[in-house]
Amino acid sequence: MKIKEYYDVTVIGAGPAGLCAAIQAAKAGVSTCLVEKNGIAGGTITAGGIPCPGIFHAWGRQVISGIGWELVRRTREESGEPLPDFSTTNLNEHWRHQISIDPVLFAALCDEEFEKAGVIVKYHTMVGRATLADDGIELELCGKDGLYPVFSRRVIDCTGDANVARMLHAEVRVSDPCQPGTLCVYATGYDPEKLDLEAIRSAFDAAAARGEVSCEDTGWSNGFNPHFLFGRGNNSNHISGINAGDSAGRTRIEMAGRASLLRLYRFLKKQPGLEKLAFKLNAAECGVRETRTIVGKATVTAEEYAAGKRYDDAVCHAFYPIDLHDAQVGLDKRPLAPGVVPTVPRGALISVNTRHLLAAGRILSSDRLANSALRVQATCMATGQAAGALAALSVRLRTPAEEVPAAELRKMLEANGAIVP
Ligand SMILES: Cc1cc2nc3c(=O)[nH]c(=O)nc-3n(C[C@H](O)[C@H](O)[C@H](O)COP(=O)(O)OP(=O)(O)OC[C@H]3O[C@@H](n4cnc5c(N)ncnc54)[C@H](O)[C@@H]3O)c2cc1C
Repeated sequence: MKIKEYYDVTVIGAGPAGLCAAIQAAKAGVSTCLVEKNGIAGGTITAGGIPCPGIFHAWGRQVISGIGWELVRRTREESGEPLPDFSTTNLNEHWRHQISIDPVLFAALCDEEFEKAGVIVKYHTMVGRATLADDGIELELCGKDGLYPVFSRRVIDCTGDANVARMLHAEVRVSDPCQPGTLCVYATGYDPEKLDLEAIRSAFDAAAARGEVSCEDTGWSNGFNPHFLFGRGNNSNHISGINAGDSAGRTRIEMAGRASLLRLYRFLKKQPGLEKLAFKLNAAECGVRETRTIVGKATVTAEEYAAGKRYDDAVCHAFYPIDLHDAQVGLDKRPLAPGVVPTVPRGALISVNTRHLLAAGRILSSDRLANSALRVQATCMATGQAAGALAALSVRLRTPAEEVPAAELRKMLEANGAIVP
């Protein structure tokens, strides 16, 4: 098929990482295409029902800013909500540093930014094939009307699942086991304060013993988790034992997620006070915590992360406790020591063995424990912006991403509001 579309940079996936990568590359003045399988930007923020980006502040100062932060800040401004006062928030309750945003406004503001920056957006489009060429990567995209080829000098994989890396036979790590996924709903039609939780708990235990529900339907495997009811179904259930990195795994996790909600709905509906329970859709798909990471020219280890290693080629900060959801053991949470602010090296965004391929977001090169912290939305935004700048500069300077002068990279990121360590 004759190629008719050429881009300097193509970003695959418009989650927190990909949307920032595309805006940054386009703002750098190179032709940029953004490919997204859904009809909305935001990834887990919107389609996964988790509109809570964090963490941008550490120990009383801002450590991540730039394109993602501006979108979050403007979303709050648009909805008339002031930002929380981060200087007084207790970091032991790290989730209080996540910023709750309206996902509809956020996605609309992303679209506005794409247009302003000149990003060519392709929603409802996936990559069918990727082939390495001397001077770039040939992609076969699949749109609603069929397949068509596109050539791109650099590709940034922001799929959350390293799908393009896989197609290019780049080295990847496959997680086994994976942290569980979560299918969010909005549970309504009851007053949590009026429920007899102990009665529900013992009925739940009996139903679990009969195999009618699974403990993971409300969260952890150790029994009934009232957070499902108090948190109104948000970020609660666990769908474990599935690697959702490919379409087969994705299909299994979506179906297992809905089966879990159906079991739970049938059980809860019979409990006093829950007769009018209703589940409203607030996530189009199951949120996935972990599938694969690329093997990069550098790999962040848990030890380096916990020590706050300042890499010579650091492109951004990261800030979150190690937060591994282990289906059997429970939450492995390891807060950072006072004053520690980890960083991300440039090499973690560059494939070790595949030219012209970069990656950002939760698939950046890291070991499992480090990844459980690096995967959060603010860090994904910062690594996305860094990868977008790197890809644009490597095209402009006709040099591999690892050889882009650090001073040029810093200049571009800082000019676009980012904090570079
Ligand atoms: C249940 C849950 C709760 C969480 N809670 C929080 C929280 O409170 N705060 C926080 O900061 N983080 C939280 N996280 C982590 C965070 O949301 C994710 O790790 C982060 O969104 C990953 O960003 P990403 O851009 O790498 O990938 P994603 O958000 O997964 O985005 C990937 C995008 O790529 C698209 N895509 C995938 N494959 C293809 C393909 N082949 N072709 C085209 N497009 C494709 C997807 O549709 C999606 O839009 C949570 C995660 C989960 C699952």
